[in-house]
Amino acid sequence: MSSTCCRMFVNMTSFRHLPSVDRVLAHKRLKELGQSYPHDLLVGFIREELTAARRRIAAGGDCPSVDAVAEKVCQSVLALDKFSPRRVINASGVIIHTNLGRAPLSEEAIAAMKSAAAGYCDLEYDIESGERGSRNVHIESLICRLTGAGAALAVNNNASAVLLGLMALARRKEVIVSRGQAVEIGGGFRVPDVMRQSGAKLVEVGTTNCTYAADYEQAINPQTAAILRVHSSNFRVVGFTSTVTLGELVMVGRKHGIPVLDDLGSGCFLDTSRFGLEREPTVQESITAGAGLVFFSGDKLVGGPQAGIIAGEKALVDRLKKHPLARAVRIDKVRLAGLRATLVHYLKNEAVLKIPVWRMIATPVGEIEKRAESWAKAAGKSALVVDGETVVGGGSLPGGSLPTRLVLIHGGKRLADALRQRSVPIIGRVERDRLLLDPRTVLPEEDEMVLKALRADAATLAG
Ligand SMILES: *Cc1c(COP(=O)(O)O)cnc(C)c1O
Repeated sequence: MSSTCCRMFVNMTSFRHLPSVDRVLAHKRLKELGQSYPHDLLVGFIREELTAARRRIAAGGDCPSVDAVAEKVCQSVLALDKFSPRRVINASGVIIHTNLGRAPLSEEAIAAMKSAAAGYCDLEYDIESGERGSRNVHIESLICRLTGAGAALAVNNNASAVLLGLMALARRKEVIVSRGQAVEIGGGFRVPDVMRQSGAKLVEVGTTNCTYAADYEQAINPQTAAILRVHSSNFRVVGFTSTVTLGELVMVGRKHGIPVLDDLGSGCFLDTSRFGLEREPTVQESITAGAGLVFFSGDKLVGGPQAGIIAGEKALVDRLKKHPLARAVRIDKVRLAGLRATLVHYLKNEAVLKIPVWRMIATPVGEIEKRAESWAKAAGKSALVVDGETVVGGGSLPGGSLPTRLVLIHGGKRLADALRQRSVPIIGRVERDRLLLDPRTVLPEEDEMVLKALRADAATLAG
């Protein structure tokens, strides 16, 4: 009881010692900032900081000095002029890392995006005729050429692509999904929830591990609008399993005049087995097998900016293009330009040379080893090079990993913290007290920065 009284007394005086807004404004540091930032903005930041300080005092903290408050306000104000999200170096060993922004882009894609962003562009304007055009013309023929589809459409992301597909084709109707595919992809994308949002009724067939063509066939009735296949992109069911191939689904669908929709998730144009990876189904294969619509992301294995791509039969794609939701989930000019430049790399057979995610996948382990050795040397005596695995990630290839060489630093937790606090943070992986750094997910252009950081931070921590 008495200690509570005492603390309350201390707190009351602490509150009284808290500087006023005017006193902080008069501080030397804020006077300097006053040259470049509006008065009202500074006052807003000061008020916020004083409110936070009051909350900390109420919780038993000390009263901050004017200098301390001014310093914090300065940091918040100066942070406005830094990029956010800001650049980081991904040494985590996950190539398509959703929390780190998925695919880094090719030089050509970046240049195209910069050009589209910098001025006006012919986004929906036909230069030839001087009349209104469609934003879809910039990518539709490319996607069709690449995949063999009759028509195509790009939208905001793959989640909105699937939602649009279901809404346009199956609202107030039934969609058949295997129980083993009514899954959660992560980040809030759950097949049953997306289905509910679209207004389509989910009809689950089969069991978690086994579904047969007859299960689908028996569920078909006059209310059935589509069969949906979902690529189990981030997990695997092993043991006694049975799934129906896309070709078989198409046969069932054709018999009853029902389209098969294929959510491929990552979407891939190249044969991943070329790189020692498991085979990821390609978009071309789905189109050839007869899928009515195929949905996939722009920023997973395609290696472009965030987008959702829909490819398939013209009659179906046309229904999606005309649906009001298409307007709500349309893609913007900047990402459209980047997506187009990325797709062109595939048409020119240069994806593996130009698209960063494919460059990473295709790098021979010998080359990674050389880089790992130079990194380990920079990090000093506690570092060694060990065998490891790079994960492709991003909901593609659930069992997909590539052999790599990792730099392992025993007792590296503090080094991991230091590397993360740099102006360009370097993100590694901490397992127990070991820091692991994977050169495969770092662009070779970034190596110089990593070497400098390792030398500096390892030396500081050593002594
Ligand atoms: C990743 C994924 C999605 C969601 O794609 P976004 O581009 O993140 O919206 C949907 N379905 C599957 C199978 C996925 O792997």
